[in-house]
Amino acid sequence: MKYVSTRGDATPRPFCEILLEGLAPDGGLYLPQAYPKVDGATLARWRGLSYADLAFEILSLYIDDIPSDDLHALVRRTYTAETFGTPQITPLKALDEGLCLQALSNGPTLAFKDMAMQLLGQLFEYQLGRTGRQLNILGATSGDTGSAAEYAMRGKKGVRVFMLSPHGRMSPFQQAQMFSLQDPNIHNLAIEGVFDDCQDIVKAVSNDLAFKQRHHIGTVNSINWARLLAQVVYYFAGWFQATQRNDQVVDFCVPSGNFGNICAGHVARMMGLPIGRLVAATNENDVLDEFFRTGRYRVRSGSETFETSSPSMDISKASNFERFVFDLVGRDAARTAMLFGAGIARDGGFQVNDAEFARIAGFGFVSGKSVHADRIATIRDTWQRFGTMIDTHTADGLKVAREQRRAGVPMLVLETALPAKFAESIREALDMDPPRPAALQGIESLPKRFQVMPADAGRVKRYIAEHTGL
Ligand SMILES: *Cc1c(COP(=O)(O)O)cnc(C)c1O
Repeated sequence: MKYVSTRGDATPRPFCEILLEGLAPDGGLYLPQAYPKVDGATLARWRGLSYADLAFEILSLYIDDIPSDDLHALVRRTYTAETFGTPQITPLKALDEGLCLQALSNGPTLAFKDMAMQLLGQLFEYQLGRTGRQLNILGATSGDTGSAAEYAMRGKKGVRVFMLSPHGRMSPFQQAQMFSLQDPNIHNLAIEGVFDDCQDIVKAVSNDLAFKQRHHIGTVNSINWARLLAQVVYYFAGWFQATQRNDQVVDFCVPSGNFGNICAGHVARMMGLPIGRLVAATNENDVLDEFFRTGRYRVRSGSETFETSSPSMDISKASNFERFVFDLVGRDAARTAMLFGAGIARDGGFQVNDAEFARIAGFGFVSGKSVHADRIATIRDTWQRFGTMIDTHTADGLKVAREQRRAGVPMLVLETALPAKFAESIREALDMDPPRPAALQGIESLPKRFQVMPADAGRVKRYIAEHTGL
């Protein structure tokens, strides 16, 4: 299996070459040359496998440059009941008849990003070890991604993490989650500024190509192909749990922001997994809902991007969306490059043509939107009727799932975070505090390890140089 870019660079690259990469050199995203197909006999063989063994089978279709035994061992080390809380790893919780939550957020940082990031940590350490290379991950975070990256990379050989966050602006819980890590390869830099200052610094450092090269700077953002691939596995795992036979169709509803999670569902469906619909649920930042309703993709400006109570879905553009559009336009790289290159640069977006718009239904996509009042009502209703406490992102998904349900077709709503991370909204909805997993009780009082720094790219570079020893 080789990988090519959505914008026309057809150089066939093996998995390990793109493992540590973000964008392709032409600015596109990597996709496999073709999706491997899974037939009924294969599904029958996979039914009953453990999560780790299922992950091994699926990853093996996409990775041919890691010896099988090594890949199997990496996956088995990643997906353990110890790390993810249950032997099923992503168990289902039934709500109404035929409507279930699929739990993806029982990993170390209580959000679904752990599902992929934990595997990435293992893959990075393995690949860096066998090539004798090092990687210094530089990132900016206001919450979820930064902590998932730190928990995945802590203690890994050959990897350091330099994570910038706005000083004093994360919740005490988020801050404690990150700053209590004592591993010497994890560096928390608390920047005197806001999140945008942190992002600007990351851009400034990455644009200094000489520095970037000398210090082996990389990122772990959501466009990384290995992250997306890891997410494909839980669509299979959810489908197996919701069905008894191979001809049964299941719909999925996915709380969406950067389109990484639901794009993995698209890949699973393209492989032949019997997924009926993929329902994209957005919050007030409805870039994706607008597209699926109208065919118009319109990137939002900063002032049009709202801060909401489901903050991990507060996006102005959906960075993985180009992967789906590439398939939608029949894998026409020139057309994709025009829409996402000139179209966005010149017009701030694009409109697909009528023929393309008509094809969306064949890919199973529909969408819906949920706002703050919907989240609060859904959290309250789910607690009162089922005794199940859900977080704000999952509530957006559940609200939209109820609107899009079809008689006789099971619907799985992906639970993307635990309520413990969003205590303020839970108090608003239920007038009580969300429970916390035992391992995270009292983390606010643990010793913290972080470095306060002015919003100055030069200072950050100096800090990195001092700590990479290069
Ligand atoms: C990242 C995130 C999302 C959005 O996922 P995308 O892959 O960006 O669409 C939804 N919910 C939570 C809790 C998240 O952390």
